[in-house]
Amino acid sequence: SSRVETLEFQAEARQLLQLMVHSIYSDKDIFLRELISNASDALDKLRIASLVDDRLRVDTTDLRIEIEADREQRTLTVRDNGIGMSRDEVVGLIGTIAKSGTAELLRKLRESQDAAASSDLIGQFGVGFYSTFMVADRVTLLTGRAGESGGTRWESDGEGTYVIEAVDDAPRGTAVTVHLKPEDSEDRLFDYTSEAKIREIVKRYSDFIAWPIRLVPAPGEKSENAAGDEAGAAGEGDEKADEKPLNSMKALWARPSSEVDAAEYNEFYRHLSHDWTDPLEVIHMKGEGTFEYEALLFIPARAPFDLHTRDARRGVQLYVKRVFIMDDCAELLPNYLRFVRGVVDAHDLSLNISREILQQDRRIQLVRRRLVKKVLASVRALQENDAERYRAFWKEFGAAVKEGLVEDGDNEEAILEILSVGSTRDAEQATTLREYVERMKDGQNEIYYLTGDSRAMIENSPHMEAFQARGYEVLILTDPVDEVWVERVAQFDGKPLKSIAKGQVDLDTDDERKSSEPEREQQLKDFAALLPWLAVKLQDDVKEVRLSTRLTTSPACLVGDTFDLTPALEKMYRAMGQ
Ligand code: ADP
Ligand code: MG
Repeated sequence: SSRVETLEFQAEARQLLQLMVHSIYSDKDIFLRELISNASDALDKLRIASLVDDRLRVDTTDLRIEIEADREQRTLTVRDNGIGMSRDEVVGLIGTIAKSGTAELLRKLRESQDAAASSDLIGQFGVGFYSTFMVADRVTLLTGRAGESGGTRWESDGEGTYVIEAVDDAPRGTAVTVHLKPEDSEDRLFDYTSEAKIREIVKRYSDFIAWPIRLVPAPGEKSENAAGDEAGAAGEGDEKADEKPLNSMKALWARPSSEVDAAEYNEFYRHLSHDWTDPLEVIHMKGEGTFEYEALLFIPARAPFDLHTRDARRGVQLYVKRVFIMDDCAELLPNYLRFVRGVVDAHDLSLNISREILQQDRRIQLVRRRLVKKVLASVRALQENDAERYRAFWKEFGAAVKEGLVEDGDNEEAILEILSVGSTRDAEQATTLREYVERMKDGQNEIYYLTGDSRAMIENSPHMEAFQARGYEVLILTDPVDEVWVERVAQFDGKPLKSIAKGQVDLDTDDERKSSEPEREQQLKDFAALLPWLAVKLQDDVKEVRLSTRLTTSPACLVGDTFDLTPALEKMYRAMGQ
């Protein structure tokens, strides 16, 4: 019929699917985790939608996730009665990959020959729904969008096209049916229709999911579970025989941290970040007193591809007494910590709280201040106790954290402490400001730095000559954001920050000055005619021509006034249209 259409996956989606079909990822069990995770998100979305939109009349009393295994057909279905998808949503969300950075990821994947490295990259990106194609030779999806009549059926073998069809009636929510590959097609493929296997996977990966996950018998199949484990709890022929969910549904953040192990934290992180790599750091905290809250925050191991783009995801999930309120709650963390993922459960807020109210809520601001301090303190602790992990952190997130020096004056000191920058001292190893200050020469009162596009450019700058010659260490700042924060930050540990490209830099000690006095006078005489002549010749381009002690090999260099913009900053402002 005309309601059936065959469509092509978007090019990027097709490439990712290929990777899944010819899977490089060894742990295939995770496809079930991804389906459950999507079902759980869909239930959260429905509950929120029902609160926000009063035209949407839906029954939210029995939100749940069902898993139906059919041993004969070799299918596994994960079903939710959540928000569902419209036809266009199915095309947009399943047929394409909207995430920014896809092209970049695929380029890296093509370049990377090594399977482990590729699966790492995939992990970083998170392929979600497509992971079903690791175990399936065909996947069907039936979905009905809440508030709409009719539904959509989707099917694909993951090989470039999918079939989409409008159907007259579909229950609200989404059912994804995975047609498992022949059992012995690959040694790593388990029997995913086995109840024991399903229980094991749910327990391992999805125990904390807040909605009940239940096994239901396939139609026409005698429930093998009815006689199951809870002997006595079930009456004969009682449909509710297997009502007990497979998952404990315990909110991880509400449990004492001593009772949560690393594997549980990691799984929870994966669920909420959609990142397959374990987090670099877990921060589990509790606020008591007038405003109670629990927070479970994660610092990822890797920066997302879009960290430095406008559409970077930001914020943590907000819960009120175990009830999910919103995703990406930007009010709880400043922009420069946008890479932090996690959950904040605030006990005394209203379930209907809006973003507008959140922005003004003093208690939320208080929580935010505490979270920021805690995150910065955790990085400090890493720096002190685990240099390698600290360096990994800084490499991924340093550029974002430095934005904090512009945005968040209150925490300037804490940020300056955890900062690492390049230096002339060692081309390989960055330095902290604290280390720099400890190495400062006798009589040196300022922290010298030079900004520029690259290390090589800065090292070869004529400004550098006198400093190199006299053995002064100079910080090498090459991130675009460096230009901005060095303008804002007046000092560290009482030592002013000083650009060696600006104003007069006097490196001579008093003694040196005395002994070089005659020579300088002689030079001034020698060049008495040249300096004014140059000043006239260059009057449209420079303000002044001075005799300098800065240079050792170059004949001349350009110097900015102390309060001038640096060339890079000038360029940046111009690009921003200012
Ligand atoms: P992610 O969950 O990281 O966004 P997925 O590939 O797992 O990526 O899913 C892609 C999108 O498809 C989801 O963001 C969601 O909008 C939609 N989706 C997937 N499964 C469901 C479902 N069970 N119910 C509603 N929407 C879903
Ligand atoms: Mg998902």
